[in-house]
Amino acid sequence: MNRRQKTWLTRRSMFRSAAAAAMFGPLFKATEGSASAQQTVNRRSAPSTLKVTDMRACRVAANYDYPLIKIYTNQDVYGLGEVRDAGVEGIALILKAMLVGKDPLNIEGNLRTVRQFAGHGRMGGGYSAVDMALHDIAGKVYGVPAYRLIGNKNHDRIRIYADTTSHKDPKVYAERMRKRKEMGLTFFKMDLESSMLADRPGALNERGVCTEKGLGYLCEYIAAIRDVIGPGAPLAADHFGRLTVNDSIRYARAFEPYQLSWAEDLLQVAEGHQYPYLNWQAYKTISDATVTPVLTGEDIFGLQDGFQPLMDHRAVDAIHPDIETSGGLLETKRIADYAEMCGIQVAMHHAGSPIGGFAGYHCAATFGNNFLAMENHALDMPWWQDLVTGVPKPIIEKGYVKVPDDRPGLGLELNDAVIKEHLRRPGYFEPTPMFDDLIVSGFHPGGAWPHYDEEGKWCNCVTYQ
Ligand SMILES: [Mg+2]
Repeated sequence: MNRRQKTWLTRRSMFRSAAAAAMFGPLFKATEGSASAQQTVNRRSAPSTLKVTDMRACRVAANYDYPLIKIYTNQDVYGLGEVRDAGVEGIALILKAMLVGKDPLNIEGNLRTVRQFAGHGRMGGGYSAVDMALHDIAGKVYGVPAYRLIGNKNHDRIRIYADTTSHKDPKVYAERMRKRKEMGLTFFKMDLESSMLADRPGALNERGVCTEKGLGYLCEYIAAIRDVIGPGAPLAADHFGRLTVNDSIRYARAFEPYQLSWAEDLLQVAEGHQYPYLNWQAYKTISDATVTPVLTGEDIFGLQDGFQPLMDHRAVDAIHPDIETSGGLLETKRIADYAEMCGIQVAMHHAGSPIGGFAGYHCAATFGNNFLAMENHALDMPWWQDLVTGVPKPIIEKGYVKVPDDRPGLGLELNDAVIKEHLRRPGYFEPTPMFDDLIVSGFHPGGAWPHYDEEGKWCNCVTYQ
């Protein structure tokens, strides 16, 4: 565009604006009002110049390790995130070089950049931790709780479910579950390992899988626990052993009279897929053969190529994302919304710290009516909730967590003293210069790249876009 055209356009725009102002005077007044209303928005930071400056980490040694990260900016605001339990912080730190210098408020753009380094299981932990930290920063900058960045608060409080340690004696096992009930829980889960029956003659076949007799014993455990929690209380089951498709169908059918909320990760043999939980054809065969609700997903990353095929084919009745693997708040919200569209229920797995916990609570608050409950794996670890400050304690009250409204971002701070007491190895958010450079893949748009330029000269430069 030449200068003459620009001038003409500018004059034309001015004329248009003046004419519009004359025609829509009242409208402009309304706009003025909105502008002044916007001045009430908390701008404690200046988003236009906000830049990521650093990423650091530490690891808490707990029931599983909790790798925690902090993303720092040039304006003192920082974000907290958590890598999947039993993972390591390196999966997040390798993303540092792709984020430093970027605007942390460009959440989707930053996540697109690092998505190539995300995968299923613990490999989803880095991406997910970065998503959490960016939402924590954005919430603090805009002065809103993290849930507000991804949707509305459809749930004021999040129902918590918990596992309990199994025992070979059904009576002892049931007593342990009674303690869960006394803690105030209203949603329960039990492990039903086939291996509990190893010393019962005729209970297991040559592969360690239950015979019909063994399935009868497993049902005795369910019945004992049903006696304690009551016939109407939601009860799920997990950890059955190394089951094939046919084994899974036999187990799920045996459980039908007890109306479980779900049977979790029944299939443990991949049967031609990279991971059993991605084998939607096998899961469809299982779920079509039983009325026991079938669930999987704690190790799945992402909607596309992750949860979507399972849901498109209605291969499961419920999904079970862990926000520390599934992709953080934004991706998990997309997954849960898609599930609602498909008529599939959503429970959330969680075995990490309150950092990932609150990321999950904020996220689940925006889910629809297909949300069931979110796990807590640390009910027997009293210092779990001491790891953080800023949120009401006890964090779990009468089986629910209140989703905080009154604090921006994830709404919590680290309790430095308590975390330092429980570090896996020395070092508390120490500098990470070894991650200043890209160490997994060197390709990044913008150059410079070493190559022969158009004149045949060797250079380390940018000659094309
Ligand atoms: Mg599980």
